[in-house]
Amino acid sequence: MKQQNNSSKFKAIFETQKNEILASHLLASEEFQVKVEDLSDENDHASAVIEQGMRMSLRNREVNLLKKIDLSLAKIRLGTFGVCECCEEDIELSRLEARPTAELCLECKETAEINESKSSRGRQSKVVGISLELQTA
Ligand SMILES: [Zn+2]
Repeated sequence: MKQQNNSSKFKAIFETQKNEILASHLLASEEFQVKVEDLSDENDHASAVIEQGMRMSLRNREVNLLKKIDLSLAKIRLGTFGVCECCEEDIELSRLEARPTAELCLECKETAEINESKSSRGRQSKVVGISLELQTA
């Protein structure tokens, strides 16, 4: 498994990303509190509501990213990191460097995107199934 040589590098990347998200998450929750004087004007109130909505969607994205990072870290532990979940071949290193949480090789990703547009059925993940089982054991 070639990708094992790079796993410590990616482990560091994931841990840095995770810390950054958690740090900004903490900061965001402090800024989240809307002061009463900010709500005195109707326009300010509207923009506060919009800003709140933006923060909520940002947090959802962050939560999703955190899940992907945790999954990738679990794969590093299991030695399945960098392996395509579909064809089980190594994912291109250049692809992993651009998108460390990638689960599919470029070829399978393209195929999956075509299939996704054809049907709404979710794809089965062999590798994820195994890693989640081991994680909870
Ligand atoms: Zn593949």
